[in-house]
Amino acid sequence: IFAAVELAPRDPILGLNEAFNADTRPFKVNLGVGVYSDDNGKIPLLAAVKAAEKARVDAMLPRGYQPIEGPAAYDSAVQNLLFGADSELISAGRVVTAQALGGTGALKIGADFLKRLNPESKVYISNPSWENHRALFESAGFEVENYPYYDAATRGVDFAGMKSFLQSLAAGSVIVLHACCHNPTGADLSDAQWAEVVEVCRAQGLVPFLDMAYQGFADGIDADAVAVRLFSASGLQFFVSSSFSKSFSLYGERVGALSIVTASKEETGRVLSQLKRVIRTNYSNPPIHGAAMVAAVLSSPELRQQWEDELAGMRDRIRAMRTGLVDAIKAQGVEQDFSFVAQQRGMFSYTGLTAAQVEVLRSEFGIYAVSTGRICLAALNSKNLPYVAEAIAKVVKG
Ligand code: PMP
Repeated sequence: IFAAVELAPRDPILGLNEAFNADTRPFKVNLGVGVYSDDNGKIPLLAAVKAAEKARVDAMLPRGYQPIEGPAAYDSAVQNLLFGADSELISAGRVVTAQALGGTGALKIGADFLKRLNPESKVYISNPSWENHRALFESAGFEVENYPYYDAATRGVDFAGMKSFLQSLAAGSVIVLHACCHNPTGADLSDAQWAEVVEVCRAQGLVPFLDMAYQGFADGIDADAVAVRLFSASGLQFFVSSSFSKSFSLYGERVGALSIVTASKEETGRVLSQLKRVIRTNYSNPPIHGAAMVAAVLSSPELRQQWEDELAGMRDRIRAMRTGLVDAIKAQGVEQDFSFVAQQRGMFSYTGLTAAQVEVLRSEFGIYAVSTGRICLAALNSKNLPYVAEAIAKVVKG
């Protein structure tokens, strides 16, 4: 049966992890992975999550099946975070939300549903994008192309290029947008640019698919939802995939959601019925534990406050690592300006380091980064930052 099976290419980032784990140098640093570590280099278990988990474990509840779309308390908590607790869309019954297996699972059920709906549409992702976007939409059967996004010269967004490209697209084209904290570049649109994107989507009849994997990692829960809120106010229909992997540090629990904004409450009922068919034939219904903890935290005023404080702590620590790295590289006498690193948002930065420089960082210094020059700022801490800054300075000075 398997004689003709070809070996699939290795996942570039997971391959980097394997190489890192095999490296025996004690001072090695892994800036490749997309997870948040605390100042001790550990993935945190948030205190709010710990409290909710303890209460849940103590209750020793039975493990029946969940509703196909997940429990109402969870779905409603997701909607409040994305659209705002006072959202008119929510009160009008215009949002379908289904629990999903992380942000990835949300993208997958959204892609499968869209393929049934608009089989001929093309999907457009930013250039560059999170590497799984292309694979996910291609595996749902779509043709996937890039839209202009990153401008290496300014280390920001080529907004004119992006906008004119979007204006050239056929109606019904699906456009995948990073709602905040763009992965891999760290370069986000301004609020005013988001408003322009909304208008282009309206004028061209595009299908917006917002991917919100890092809510709360840039400026705050509501501030980071500006794209979702602008699309909400526009009256358009759109998709949002969201994830608690980062904001709750629940990576392995696979907690996310797909939300779809419809034109009416009546449409919501029909859309939900079809989305449930997609879920039913993929994994039937979602797992209980992670979503139960998120729902418990978000529905308790005390735990929610504790979580918001912990989320702010993660956000502030990443910011401190950004400015710390810029200052430390400068202090090494590097002429090249790295101040853009402090302006970029979220966990990542496109540093502008070349593949050759990244290779020297790995071979000579045991510092692992993605060959595109992407580093994860959330993997820096007060102990490894001086060493990383010194190594980057040596590499760029040549
Ligand atoms: N979208 C983007 C842009 C991401 O960076 C990630 C995670 N790296 C995801 C989706 C998937 O998140 P999850 O781990 O919750 O599946």
